[in-house]
Amino acid sequence: MTDTSSLHGIVIVTAFEKKSEEISILAQAFAERYSISGYTVESEVDPDLLGGFVVYSGGYRYDYSVKGQLDRLLKQMKNPDQPISATGSLEDPSVDAQAIRESIKLVIDSFNEDPTALFEMGTKEPLRDKEDSDKRKKTPDTDSDEKALSFSDTVTVEEIGRVISVGDGIAFVEGIENCMLGETILFGPNSSGIAMNLEKDRVGIVLLGEVTEVVDKMMCRRTGKTVEIPVGKGLLGRVIDSMGNPIDGKGMVRTRHSRPIESPAPGILERCPVNTPLQTGITVIDALTPIGRGQRELIIGDRQTGKTAVALDTIINQRGKNVICVYVAIGQKLSTIVQTVHTLEKHNALSYTVVVAAGAAEQASMQYLAPYAGCTIAEYFMLEKNADVLIVYDDLTKHAQAYRALSLLLRRPPGREAYPGDVFYIHSRLLERAANLAPSCGGGSITALPIIETQGGDISAYIPTNVISITDGQIYLESELFFSGQRPAVNVGLSVSRVGGAAQIKAMKKLSGPLRINLAQAREMAAFAQFGSDLDESTQLQIKRGDILAEILKQPQFEPLSNPEQVIILYMATSGKLLFLDKEEVREYVFDYLRRIRVLHPNILREIENTGELDDKIKHQLDEYEIDHKEAFVTEHTRYLERE
Ligand code: ATP
Ligand code: MG
Repeated sequence: MTDTSSLHGIVIVTAFEKKSEEISILAQAFAERYSISGYTVESEVDPDLLGGFVVYSGGYRYDYSVKGQLDRLLKQMKNPDQPISATGSLEDPSVDAQAIRESIKLVIDSFNEDPTALFEMGTKEPLRDKEDSDKRKKTPDTDSDEKALSFSDTVTVEEIGRVISVGDGIAFVEGIENCMLGETILFGPNSSGIAMNLEKDRVGIVLLGEVTEVVDKMMCRRTGKTVEIPVGKGLLGRVIDSMGNPIDGKGMVRTRHSRPIESPAPGILERCPVNTPLQTGITVIDALTPIGRGQRELIIGDRQTGKTAVALDTIINQRGKNVICVYVAIGQKLSTIVQTVHTLEKHNALSYTVVVAAGAAEQASMQYLAPYAGCTIAEYFMLEKNADVLIVYDDLTKHAQAYRALSLLLRRPPGREAYPGDVFYIHSRLLERAANLAPSCGGGSITALPIIETQGGDISAYIPTNVISITDGQIYLESELFFSGQRPAVNVGLSVSRVGGAAQIKAMKKLSGPLRINLAQAREMAAFAQFGSDLDESTQLQIKRGDILAEILKQPQFEPLSNPEQVIILYMATSGKLLFLDKEEVREYVFDYLRRIRVLHPNILREIENTGELDDKIKHQLDEYEIDHKEAFVTEHTRYLERE
């Protein structure tokens, strides 16, 4: 943008060199139109305007240029439903492309010839015929009233400001008094910013895009809009940045719609309680901390405890279940993001997934925006397509840190752990946008799985407690369990799901009740057993039972189990059928059995799936098949024969 030197007085920027008397005619007409008295006039030339002129006055920019016209035309073509106000001819949708082209040509031609023709630009009908316009040119001095009036008609008036200081991705700007919070401010062709701090005489702006383009004393202008990103089906299978630009080298993103990245969460009347399960495919989670569609379940744990693995397994398990997934990577290494995308691709999960990535090297502003961008995409699918959406924020600790960096640079006062006072609000307003929409609103849901990284297992730090209190439960992963080989390392005692139980199938609900108690009791007993005292038989049995349960809850990555399969293995484990086995062989025994059922008796799986129950008839059948399986297993492992 041109660096015009004064906010006071009138600055006229023309596309071509004009004589000074021509400039003063323009300035006079302009001053009359806006009742300005005692002005000073400066003029500049900017060939980029193509034709016409731009007036800077009193902190506003009045655009009468051909470039401005073309921009408006482009906007209109991109967004035909939205009539652009004060553009005369363009409001009429019946104007065909040819007519528009001719009118523009006319406008350009007349600009080049005669500065007084600039006034013509402002009339309501730029499409008037050539003859008429010729007549006007012959009598430039008459009808001055009409000309002056014409100023307001096709002009784009923009409020402009000037950069007073810039650095670290933050610019302070003066002169844009009417700026809204969160509004996009344009600096140059590749740089823009978001107004984050509205102060008495300046606005703090967080810069996006090419930050180096923004310099001291530079002009910037308001857009009157908040940040928007493209949304639509074209994003599926793509990796984009926080502004919706593709970064996967697969070419342009084909979308027709866009949405503002901040929008209010659905209200109470638009929601309904969680009632449909969202299967993660991970037995320990589906049994003990079940997740329902529309729920917000936190995944929390130290670094390298399998947090991302749980989220990815859940995404992979949505294959063929009509759930659209959005994975938001915040502040991760690019190599990790690439690996994640490859993993999704390898398991055929990328086709229904959108990846929004703001890597560790990105500016804090991009990392801050990423989850809102992801949520906006999810919201589009929920609200417009009534689809069920799963969104993973990996992770919100880094998001809070990015926001802390921005806040400190904006000179906001630091609070606990140097986070600003509104760090709770940035997460609550994000997670509140997850919802299970009522059927009267068309249905659809957003299930959110935010991830938080703790330091040394401390879940009572600032950000973890915040997010724990916002979400409907948490899955707590523990390094100790992870390193002892218990993977997924879910700490059953500290993990809860406050609403997901309502979405569990009956069979699972029945089996999971005793499961938690057994595990808790076994852990308590095991703590006693460490003292090495002799244990009575019932205690030993309890510990054994706990060991068996822990064993069957181990699950490798990328091997999700269906709900009926989970029901069968939990039935096996809780009904005491596995007590004769050594701990090391439990998994082999159970999964061989499951394979046998899958191949020989698939109707059982189907029946559990359809009825959602494990009735006596099915139990009886399962017991019968187990006898065969046990026989085969024991003959294979002769050790058991000897023991008997
Ligand atoms: P970070 O803190 O770096 O984000 P994270 O908590 O997201 O780590 P992951 O990257 O998911 O942890 O997992 C760490 C390692 O543990 C990975 O190498 C992964 O393959 C392995 N892992 C995760 N879950 C399992 C599992 N169920 N079985 C075996 N290995 C697993
Ligand atoms: Mg991770």
